This record gives sequence, C-alpha cells and structure tokens, in this order.
Amino acid sequence: MTTVLVHLDQLTRDHGALAGVAPGEVRVLMVRNLSMLRSRPWHVQKLHLLLTAAEHFAADLRAEGFEVALVDAPTLQVALAEHRRRHGAAEPIRSARPSSHAQVALLERLGVVQVDHTMFLTSAAEFTAWADGVRTLRMEPFYRRQRLRLGILVEGGQPVGGTWNLDAENRLPPPRSRYQWPTVLTDPLDEVDARVADWISRAGLTTWGEPPDGTWARTRTGARARLAHFIAEVLPGFGPYEDAMPADSWSVHHSLLSPYLNLGLLHPREVVDAALQRHAEQPVPLSSLEGFIRQIIGWREYVHGAYWWLGPEYRHRNDLGARASLPLLFTDPSRTDMACMASVIGDVRERGWAHHIPRLMLMANLALIAGVDPAALLGWMRAAFIDAYDWVMVPNVIGMGVHADSATMMTKPYAAGGAYIDRMGRWCRGCRYNPRLRSGDEACPFTTLYWDFLDRNAEALAGNHRMTRQVSARTRLADLPAVRTRAPAVVAGLVDGRV
Ligand SMILES: Cc1cc2nc3c(=O)[nH]c(=O)nc-3n(C[C@H](O)[C@H](O)[C@H](O)COP(=O)(O)OP(=O)(O)OC[C@H]3O[C@@H](n4cnc5c(N)ncnc54)[C@H](O)[C@@H]3O)c2cc1C
Ligand code: SF4
Repeated sequence: MTTVLVHLDQLTRDHGALAGVAPGEVRVLMVRNLSMLRSRPWHVQKLHLLLTAAEHFAADLRAEGFEVALVDAPTLQVALAEHRRRHGAAEPIRSARPSSHAQVALLERLGVVQVDHTMFLTSAAEFTAWADGVRTLRMEPFYRRQRLRLGILVEGGQPVGGTWNLDAENRLPPPRSRYQWPTVLTDPLDEVDARVADWISRAGLTTWGEPPDGTWARTRTGARARLAHFIAEVLPGFGPYEDAMPADSWSVHHSLLSPYLNLGLLHPREVVDAALQRHAEQPVPLSSLEGFIRQIIGWREYVHGAYWWLGPEYRHRNDLGARASLPLLFTDPSRTDMACMASVIGDVRERGWAHHIPRLMLMANLALIAGVDPAALLGWMRAAFIDAYDWVMVPNVIGMGVHADSATMMTKPYAAGGAYIDRMGRWCRGCRYNPRLRSGDEACPFTTLYWDFLDRNAEALAGNHRMTRQVSARTRLADLPAVRTRAPAVVAGLVDGRV
C-alpha cells in the first residue's frame, strides 16, 4: 500500500496528495520533526497552531476511516526509515510538493515521490510562462492577468468599475471620531489544544510570546467560521482603512485569514468565491471587494510564484550590503522609547500577528533604513508571525521589506520617515521623539534614519527614477551633516536597546 506523507502545513483533503483518495487505499504518515522544531525559536502560538491543527486534522482523517500515524522523530529521515522498516522498504511514499526549497531537496534525497498540488490558484508552469515573458517581475500586471485568466471582476475583458486597482481610495488614516471596529472571533481551547500546549511546554523548545488563548482557530470548521465572519461583518470596510494603524483596534478591517490559508485549512478559491457571492447577494463597496481580492489572487499568488521562480539563492540577497544587528526592541519591546515600535512588537508578542502596514512600514522599514542584515530580520519574522512559512516570508522580507534584491520585485524601497507613521498611526503625540525632526536628541529615529538611508545609498538608488526626487532632496537639507552624525548613534542605540 502507498503511504501519503502529509506535511504539517498542507492540512487539506481536497488539494494535496490526499485529493481523491479513499480510506483504505493509502496509509497516512505525519511527522513532528524534532530537529526542525528545535533548530530555531518560535512564537509559542505559531508552534501551537501548527501542531494542534495537525492533531485535529489527523483525528478527522481517522474518523473518516484512514490509518494515520502522527509520530515524533529526531529527523524526517529517521521517521521514514522507521516507517519503511515497519511496512516494507518497497512501499512507496508519496507527498504533495512541500512548501520550501529545502524540503523539496530533502524529500528528493529521501526518495519520496512528490506530486503537484492545487493549493494555489496559479501553477508553477503558469507563473513561469508569465515571468519568462516579462521584462520586470511586477505584481500589478500579474494581477491584471490573474483577473482575466480567472474571470474575476471582469466584463468583456475590462475591469468591473472601469479601473483595475482602487487603492487610491484605500489610504485613509485612522478615523478621528469614534469608530466601531469589527469584533474578532475566538474559540475556547479544547482537550487536544491543551494536550499540545502541555507537549510544547515539556519538549525543550525555544519559544517566545504569550501562550495560546483561542485567538486563532485550529480546525477547518473553525477556519470556515472565521471566513464567514469576515465576509459578513468585516469585508465591507476592508478597503478604506487597509493602511491605517489606529490605537483602538489591532485587527482593523483585515481578514485574519492568512494562518488558515497557509496551513491548507482554507483554499484561496473558496475565500474569493465567498467574497464574490456576498457581493452578489448584498453588495459591498468595490474598493473593499477589489482590494481584498487583489490580496488573494494578486499578492499572495505573486509572492508564491516569485519564491519558486527566483530560486533557493534569492533568500541570501543583500544587495545594499546591510550588516547591522537586529535592534533589541524586536525581542524586548520594553527596551525602546519609540512608542510605535513598542506598541506593534507588543502586539506581535501578544498574538503573533500585525497587519501589513506595521510589518512593512514599521518593522521592515526600520530594518531597511537602519541597515539591518536581511537574514536577521528574516529569522526574526519567521519566529514571530503566526502565518510565517518560507515561501511567503522570503519574498516579502527580501524583496518587499528591505529591498535587498535591486528592485527585482518592487520598483522602489518602502522607506519612510516619521511623518508617514504620524499620518497613518496614533502614537507620535505620546512619544518622546518628534516625527518632524531629523537631527538632535528629540529627532524621531525613523526620520533621521530615512534621510541617512537616502544619503548612504544615493549611488545604489541613482538609477531608480522613482527615487530621484527624494534622493536629490537630501542635498538641500541644511542639517544633513548632523543627520550623518546622528544616524550611526541611533543604529548603535537600537542594537543595544537605548533608543
Ligand atoms: C515584511 C513582511 C512580512 C510578511 N510576512 C508574511 C508571512 O509570513 N505570512 C503571510 O501570510 N503574509 C506575510 N506578509 C503579507 C501580509 O502582511 C499578511 O499576509 C497579512 O498581514 C495577513 O493578515 P490578514 O490575513 O488579515 O490579511 P488581509 O489584509 O486580510 O489580506 C488578505 C490575504 O491576502 C494575502 N496577502 C496579502 N498580502 C500578501 C503578501 N504580501 N504576501 C502573501 N500574502 C499576502 C494573505 O493571505 C492575507 O490573508 C508579510 C508582509 C510583509 C511586508
Ligand atoms: S515619533 Fe517616531 S518613534 Fe515616536 S511614535 Fe512617531 S514615528 Fe514612532
């Protein structure tokens, strides 16, 4: 009989190696690989979600009639050797293609047959056909092609509403008056969750963050309930406040669906269909509908395709030669006076999540303009986020976050000073720093480092026409010498927790 090896982030009956297979036709093997779990630190809620979702999935398969072994092993190699010893070396082991370059290479070495899966809307062949034919790897043309290819929000080959992208309507700062943010669903932890939490506490793993409290669903049923809640209550307001960072809501109008999509508990097609169906029955503003659909069929698919297309070496890119260590505030937010950073890192500690703008314009931006080694940020983000997996983290950090790839993915670096954070967030008034100042003790570290980044990298950015204006503006700053003096002191202070 064939054995199907189910990876812990491919918990799907319909789109992986279990698609179309009936109980009794295969054995199922799932492995808690201890060397992998011990090789790096984890947000405790991420680790818990990964392991408890696997336990729940295994229980569902057993209830369906499958023979399932969910085993602990020092390595995957040992687990497969033991499995082959027990069931015969001739028994084939098959799995869906795993989600990282390293795992693909490992399974090849271990003689596991890898089959394609349909966990994304875009196959590797489709992405390659597009990427091979374009001069630059940009998301927007990819997204338009996705809309046409998948027939989503198009009529007669044209975008519904007359424009492909309604982002211009989606950049509101937090509301000034009282605003009723959507509620967030939670599920109480069950017996399986408690058992897994206990296992983690005894397994000798390095963890970080607050313990699981039911913020994240652990089953497909729970994930479906979160999707239904998002579609009914949250989606209509998704667009306008997509970039806002208010003080009184951590989730804003975001879907909180990334953990379930990335584990295989939800499929992107069902998420898109649910949004379109809601719109057909009870219309939502097009800026919210299009904005959300772009995240799923555009950004998510683009990032996934780019990960495979750019290859295993892409993760090591560091084209701006950034060498600084990770600021201490990333692991200990009590070690900074920067009100914005203390707040968002505190949020990540609490639940392993922050929305796109804190990830991009606070955490990655700070690393970019302080010249932090991209590998250090990548390592921290992989350990910190509830939805972090290699395929999604590498392009988001290397390409989008810290522009370490000479504009292979993004047209320009997402670098910003304190003025942007002051406009889109609500922290600056209560902060010891002043977002408008570039130099002096009161100057906002973001503002100092932003101008220093442009100055330091003026040559590297010279060929980028989208940066010309900002780069040349620095030469008109009267206090540029003071910025140049202050910037290294700010970086040193960030590294040892004095800023
Ligand atoms: C530096 C950096 C690191 C990131 N790391 C991750 C990560 O480890 N895992 C992860 O899933 N996303 C990551 N993202 C993308 C994005 O920030 C998260 O997907 C999003 O914040 C998840 O919250 P949500 O489900 O409420 O998203 P929503 O705002 O509701 O968006 C809907 C969905 O769109 C998808 N999506 C949107 N943008 C992206 C993107 N850039 N890449 C991939 N999917 C996207 C996600 O599946 C998300 O669930 C990162 C972005 C940056 C800038
Ligand atoms: S002044 Fe600067 S450090 Fe302080 S909250 Fe504003 S952006 Fe953040």
